[in-house]
Amino acid sequence: LRILILGSGGREHALAWKLSQSSLVDQIFVCPGNGGTAQEAKTKNVSLDSDDFKELTAFALSEQISLVLPGPEQPLVDGVETYFRKVGIPVFGPSALAARMEGSKAFAKAFMERHSIPTAKFRVFASSEFDSAVVYVKTCGYNVVLKASGLAGGKGVLIPETIEDAIAGLKEIMVDNVFGTAGNEVVIEELLTGPEISVLAFSDGYTVTPLPAAQDHKRIGEGDTGPNTGGMGAYAPAPIATAEVMGRILTETLQPTIAGMRKEGYPFLGMLFTGFMLTPDGPKVLEYNVRFGDPETEALMLLLSEETDLAAILLACVERRLDAVDVKTRPGFGVSVVLASQGYPGSYTKGKPITIGKLPKDVVAFHAGTTPSKGGAVTSGGRVIAVSAYAPTLKDALNAVYGGVDSIDFEGKVYRRDIAHRALKDDTA
Ligand code: ATP
Repeated sequence: LRILILGSGGREHALAWKLSQSSLVDQIFVCPGNGGTAQEAKTKNVSLDSDDFKELTAFALSEQISLVLPGPEQPLVDGVETYFRKVGIPVFGPSALAARMEGSKAFAKAFMERHSIPTAKFRVFASSEFDSAVVYVKTCGYNVVLKASGLAGGKGVLIPETIEDAIAGLKEIMVDNVFGTAGNEVVIEELLTGPEISVLAFSDGYTVTPLPAAQDHKRIGEGDTGPNTGGMGAYAPAPIATAEVMGRILTETLQPTIAGMRKEGYPFLGMLFTGFMLTPDGPKVLEYNVRFGDPETEALMLLLSEETDLAAILLACVERRLDAVDVKTRPGFGVSVVLASQGYPGSYTKGKPITIGKLPKDVVAFHAGTTPSKGGAVTSGGRVIAVSAYAPTLKDALNAVYGGVDSIDFEGKVYRRDIAHRALKDDTA
């Protein structure tokens, strides 16, 4: 197999790392990649314009690429799958129609309503309907969450504390257009309570095979304080996602989602990443994403058993035979801790040299915002490296991952020391 991965984050490095271990894989290209993918076995970075799908397909044809794996959501929402399908190269990722599940929260909510998938109560308003939206938040009788419907880089969700705040938030989204066209529609939904988990599941459009549930850590600061980030760490499995919870998630959400999308004419092929809140009434969907999560993927790739061949799974999905494949994970825990640049998610400096000491087996430094430089790498982004580790117990996985954190250095390195703190409260971990 010759694989083309699109993207440049820790997620893409983790995918390239796992894929490079497959005996099916001869060559991996990552466009544009980072300082880590540049050093990975069988892997090369390609500097093409990753938004230029014509250029990408021309490259894929000339390099005889047999499978394309888009990392982030934007190319999927923009229809990259069609470009490759037209030239006969399979993509592990949904069509633009199926990617609406992430690209439009209004679309996803209406889909869930049609298929009786558990989610928060909601209404959708066009930005021209500001007055009606205000009446709705005043009279709906529940606390609300406001969401710009389109892609807003994880920033388009407001959780107002009072009705006045809610009205001010609606004005920002609908009148001041702070999220641009992502705010052309606004979803007003009921505020749910409970712990959150993320479930990543492979699908070929028919079968859906979930990985163990993960929990991520969105805020920059320890104790879940400070501004939101792309994610500062993750771990799996989350002990709160018991077998009973996972069973309900499979039958009440994942299977009806995959069956419903197929029946409506836009089958889902790829990685369906569903965010849930475990409410007193059971697991409810917060959102769908149509690609691997970052930094969940960095933790999950280490949790996959060594004999689990990721390339074989992706291939089975594009060949519609996922039902015949065993996706095995190791008993134990995968953890990832993100090392960020001082100042992130605000402004930060770049170009700092990174030193990485020798890491033990089952501890891996996945590069995110780095670029290659004279045999090593320098910082080039807010999230710089996701250190990931696997161990049979959570405590050992945390010791291993923080040992890894200590052997990596760059000026201005910041990270959270409390990744997986929620699970540590649970003795079974
Ligand atoms: P992401 O960065 O994960 O892609 P997003 O911008 O796509 O986020 P959501 O995942 O829908 O948006 O919401 C972001 C966060 O807001 C959730 O992780 C959750 O903490 C909170 N949230 C969303 N919807 C609700 C709700 N109905 N009740 C309570 N909290 C919610």
